[in-house]
Amino acid sequence: MSIVTRVQDSEINPFEAVMSRFDIAAQKLNLDDGLYQFLRYPRREITVYIPVFMDTGRLQVFTGYRVQHNISRGPSKGGLRFAPDVTLDEIKALAAWMTWKCAVVNIPFGGAKGGVVCDPPQMSSGELERLTRRYTAELFEFLGPEKDVPAPDINTNEQIMAWVMDTYSMHARQTVTGVITGKPLELGGSAGRKEATGRGLMIVAVEACKKFNLAPQDTRVVIQGFGNVGSVTAQLLYEQGFKVVAVSDIRCGIYNPEGLDIPRVTEYQRRNRILDGYPEADRITNAELLELPCDILVPAATENQITSRNAPRIKARIIAEGANGPTTAKADLILESNHVFIIPDILANAGGVTVSYFEWVQDRQGYFWKESVVNERLGDYMTASFHEVVKYSETHNVNMRIASYMLAIDRVARGTRLRGIYA
Ligand code: NAD
Repeated sequence: MSIVTRVQDSEINPFEAVMSRFDIAAQKLNLDDGLYQFLRYPRREITVYIPVFMDTGRLQVFTGYRVQHNISRGPSKGGLRFAPDVTLDEIKALAAWMTWKCAVVNIPFGGAKGGVVCDPPQMSSGELERLTRRYTAELFEFLGPEKDVPAPDINTNEQIMAWVMDTYSMHARQTVTGVITGKPLELGGSAGRKEATGRGLMIVAVEACKKFNLAPQDTRVVIQGFGNVGSVTAQLLYEQGFKVVAVSDIRCGIYNPEGLDIPRVTEYQRRNRILDGYPEADRITNAELLELPCDILVPAATENQITSRNAPRIKARIIAEGANGPTTAKADLILESNHVFIIPDILANAGGVTVSYFEWVQDRQGYFWKESVVNERLGDYMTASFHEVVKYSETHNVNMRIASYMLAIDRVARGTRLRGIYA
């Protein structure tokens, strides 16, 4: 990559990504300096060292983190990721991100995030279980349905959530399902949780189309990433009559300007595990996919996909962010000057945490809702939040991302002022 086109590290640093937006929103809100300091720093960051006997009999010590950013509006909420490149800085940024995400959709949670530096594909199921249980035991007094409620994230799944729930429950001497969300249905999980992020994304994309008078059959959609979020979004938009013209996975994209038959693409991917070779489309690169002529672009793969390098060539009218942080702050400026309407990550992909909230409510009630009820309530939350952000953006003359942050910070700041700082 040449020096001219290289994206600077500061542009793709997660802490910079969240703080640069926070700073702009805080300034526009005229947040007083004390509150600014309070909301900028996490409430607590915990590092634990986790000894695990590996299958060889060797003892290995792993480093784990849990950062609780804010609890002004309720217990903190946020995923737990297992990955070799986890850092405390990254977890701090993601914890703050969760505070704003929960506030923007108005669910009664603060934000947190956890991570363990490890390489799950290289570990056996037994090693992962011992790691998960010891991590949970080390954090026992900091977790709980009224304190901090983790959920799945990169390389963690329903089984790992079940181990967290069981370990916590064994220490508490009672079964506490509400300590974690994203659990298997048999252990207090919620119907509709797996599809919730994609469904939420579909709902806000449909609302944006109504705003711009775009009829589904005339609306071309491009989706980067065909995993949990991307494939569900593609299927649901297809069912609504949208023309999904391109999708991709990490290897490549497939493009058919006439529209892809999404159930056939899904079936092809299920059989072959990849999209490459799908017969009724052209093969394109992920970089080409982002720049295709389309009405809606859904980056649903990973962070920092739209940067100052490719933003000038993005042709979409609407970007609905499925991934966390797919667009850099520098790219935001370019897209704004090109009048691209962005539905920002903290709003667009909040369907997952909203149904996590429903899971927590159901666990506490001990009464479980039908999937149709979950989906209907998710629709209410996502639609209301989308329109609140649009209204806020129009009233304050700011773009959708800054409006989301302002709305969220304002809600958290109000909660903080009402509670006061206990000293
Ligand atoms: P996933 O692992 O199921 O799917 C990711 C998809 O993106 C796969 O198709 C993969 O091949 C593709 N991909 C990965 N790296 C890529 C790259 N560099 N270029 C192009 N494609 C790439 O993950 P997911 O659960 O669908 O999550 C996708 C994004 O959405 C992540 O940023 C995640 O943090 C975010 N997110 C997920 C949820 C959720 O509920 N799953 C909720 C909120 C946000």
